[in-house]
Amino acid sequence: MRLLRYFSLFFLIILFSSSSEKLGIQPKVITELFFPDPDIDIPTPGFLKKKGYTNFMELRAFLKEKVYQYPDQMSFVNIGKSQDGKDILAVKIHGESPVNSPIRVWLQGGLHGDEMGSVEGMLYLIYNLLNSPKLLNEFEIMIIPLANPDGYSKQNRYSKNGMDLNRDHTMISAPETLCLKRAFSLFDPEMALDFHEYRPFRRDFVNLGKFGVTSMFDVMFLYTSNPNVPAALRNLIHDSFVRPCYVDLDSSGYTHHTYFSTEKHLGSIRLREGSSSARSSSTSYALSNCVSALIEIRGVGIGKTSFKRRVACVSEVGLSFLRSAIESKTEMRKVLNDSSKQHDIIYATDYLIEKRDMNFIDLHEKSIRSFELEVRDLSQLRNSLKRDRPEAYLVSEELFREISPKLEALGIAHELIEFNSLDKNRVYEYIITKYLQNGTPEFRVRRQNVKSKLEPYENENLKKVWYISTSQKHGSHLFELFEPEANNSYVAWDIIHTELNQKLKYYRYHAI
Ligand SMILES: [Zn+2]
Repeated sequence: MRLLRYFSLFFLIILFSSSSEKLGIQPKVITELFFPDPDIDIPTPGFLKKKGYTNFMELRAFLKEKVYQYPDQMSFVNIGKSQDGKDILAVKIHGESPVNSPIRVWLQGGLHGDEMGSVEGMLYLIYNLLNSPKLLNEFEIMIIPLANPDGYSKQNRYSKNGMDLNRDHTMISAPETLCLKRAFSLFDPEMALDFHEYRPFRRDFVNLGKFGVTSMFDVMFLYTSNPNVPAALRNLIHDSFVRPCYVDLDSSGYTHHTYFSTEKHLGSIRLREGSSSARSSSTSYALSNCVSALIEIRGVGIGKTSFKRRVACVSEVGLSFLRSAIESKTEMRKVLNDSSKQHDIIYATDYLIEKRDMNFIDLHEKSIRSFELEVRDLSQLRNSLKRDRPEAYLVSEELFREISPKLEALGIAHELIEFNSLDKNRVYEYIITKYLQNGTPEFRVRRQNVKSKLEPYENENLKKVWYISTSQKHGSHLFELFEPEANNSYVAWDIIHTELNQKLKYYRYHAI
C-alpha cells in the first residue's frame, strides 16, 4: 500500500512536471469513468488515422471535398497569411434557400495552436451544418477552422513570434490578428463563438485531495462581464444562449461550468472565474456588438484522449447556440440595435472575492469531491471608476497615422474634420497625474499604468482632427482603447507612450 502511494506520488510528479504537456497522460480509469467517447462516427480527417491530428493539407483537402459536394452552399477563401506564410482560411456556408435577412455568425477554432479539438470540431461542425439544410437556411456563417496555423503545426499555443493571439485583440500586434480582425469587421457578425480547449490537469491542482484533482467539466463558458458592453447584451448572452446550451449539454450527458482558471494569491491557489478583458475574444467580440462566447473544451495536455467526445462537444455547443439564435432572433436584433445608447462608461477596478465550494474529480478516490476555495469572480464588479460617455474622441493627425490600421481592423468609422467646426468648450484633454511603467515586459511590452485628469482644451495649434463618434456600431471598443486607465488601452500597452504630467495627443469631445 505504502509502495503504491509512493509510486502514485512519483507518477503525479511526472504528470505535473513542466514536460507534462508532451506526455498527454490521463489515467485510463478516469477516462472510462468520466469521459467515455460517444458512440458516433465523426467523418473528419483526424478520425481516419489512429495517431496524430488533421494536418493543414488534410484540412484543406477536406474543405475542397465539401465544396465539391455542396458547391451552392459552401466556399472558402484565403483571408491572409500567417507569419510562416501559411494561408488563413475562411469558410462561408449558407442555406440552399435562405430566409430573408439570415443571421450572420462567426465561428472560430485553433486560435491557440495546441487546442487540437477546437480545429477538428470546426470541421465536424461544417459537416453537420451541411447536413442540416433547414437550420442552415436561417444563417450566413463564416468559419475560421484554423486561426493560428503556425502554432497548430507545432502543437504550440502561440503564434510564430511568441504572441498569444487571444491576448492581442486591442494591441493587434500580430499579422494574424490584423487579418482576422479585418475579416471579422467586414463580415460584421451578429453572433461570434471562439472555440478553445483548456488544461484539466493544472500544477496548482496537485495540492488538492490526497494525490491531486482534475477538472471535471467537458465544457466551460467564458462570456463577458465587461461593463462597457451594454447590460442588455450581457444578459441576453447568458439568459438566451448559455443557459439553453446548459440544458442541451445536460441532455447529452456532458458536464459544464462557467470558465475558471487558477492564480496564486499569497502562496495559495485561488480560482478566477469569468472574463472582462478586452484583449480576449469573448469581450472584444461583444464590444463589436455581437452575441459572443468563448467555449473551452476539456482537452489540453491529454493528447488524443476522449477526442471524439471533445469534438462532439464543439459541435453540440455550436448547434445549440445556432438554435438559440433562431429562437431569439427578434430580441437579439433589438438588443444589438439599441446597444449604442448606453450612457455611462465604466472601468472595472475590482471584483468580488469569496469562498465557494467547487467540484473536482479526486484522482485518488476517483469520484467527484467538493473543495472550498477562494474565487475571484470577474462577473461581479465591486468598485469602479466612472466617466461620462463623450460624444466623440478627437485624434491628432500625427497620432492617427500610427493607430489607424488598428482602428480600421475593428471596423471603427472616423472622419477628418476642421477643428474650427467644433465647439471648443466641449473639448477636453487628458493630463497624466500618476505614471508607472512595468519593469518586466509582457509580450515584449512594458505596460504603462496611469491615472489621468481631464482639463478644458487650451492649445491653439490643432487645425484638423480625426473625429471618432462613440455612437457607432463598434463604438464600445473606444472606451477600452482611449480611456487611459482602461486595462487594455493604447496607453496601457504603450502603443501611445506618455510620461508623468504629459498631455495625450487625443481628446474627448463631450456631449451637450
Ligand atoms: Zn485557448
